[in-house]
Amino acid sequence: MTTRRWHGGELRRDRLTGEWSVLAPGRAARPHAPDGDCPFCPGPGEDTPPESWRLPSADGRSWRVRTVPNRYALSDRHEVVIESPHHDWDLAAGTDAEVADVLYGWQQRHIALRETAAQVVIFRNHGPAAGTSLPHPHSQIAGLPVLSPGIRHRLDRYREHHGRRGRTFAADLLAEELRAKTRIVHAGEHAVVFAPFAPAASYELRVLPRRIRADFATVPADELGGVARVLRIALRALRDELADPAYNLIVDTAPSGWEQAPFLAWSLRILPRADVAAGLELATGIPVVTTTPEQAAAALRSKIADPVPAT
Ligand SMILES: [Zn+2]
Repeated sequence: MTTRRWHGGELRRDRLTGEWSVLAPGRAARPHAPDGDCPFCPGPGEDTPPESWRLPSADGRSWRVRTVPNRYALSDRHEVVIESPHHDWDLAAGTDAEVADVLYGWQQRHIALRETAAQVVIFRNHGPAAGTSLPHPHSQIAGLPVLSPGIRHRLDRYREHHGRRGRTFAADLLAEELRAKTRIVHAGEHAVVFAPFAPAASYELRVLPRRIRADFATVPADELGGVARVLRIALRALRDELADPAYNLIVDTAPSGWEQAPFLAWSLRILPRADVAAGLELATGIPVVTTTPEQAAAALRSKIADPVPAT
């Protein structure tokens, strides 16, 4: 049996499948829909562990984005990124600059947390069906002591493609999607959002930056701003088309030690929680998706007021 000590619990590996599970009984005590004061809102009701980082406001007196240790941590290094001082703010409703501030916060904490982690995961759960326990806009970042099988598999596939073609998998995929056009939702100056050919969920979206880099943390400010704009456009279209659906947003980036790998590419994934996993999916791991990516992309394009042609 493979067991590793884990912050507040255990990391166990299934002998049959080789897959890891985190056993975190303490997380059952997470707050859901707090009564009264929100712990993330600035003011007398604010109640968080001591701050680990902040992006100050222009006058320096308050903050635009701040990070704190997660009280219900999944690992030793698990932080909450409080994305705005405003309780009702959301990525889909924010300005390009506000969304870029959040991405900058992810970069800064990624750099800090990867010192002691095999892999840093950055994710955002939106809506109770996606696992949100507090409505105040926030995302999470955690350093993990092991590489997940999913990441290992992706590393192998990217390396194999690069060895065979001499180009990154992401560059070839982006060129193919831009040629086909049917799954493109929006093509911006710095990034493109599209519905993947074989999605894991209805309305799954991927944001691929045009400039391929392995490491999300090294994206310079102008490119990060361009990615933020495309992400904001995609989330707003999704909100308008599906009436603010629950989703998980994931940053896929190089694990520790692979930041310079020439075959890797960072990207963003948005996975709406519209389909319910049933027996076939649980038995085979093959998702059943009810909306084709071509339908999803066409519907989302129609929600974008000022579409930029896919070139
Ligand atoms: Zn709040």
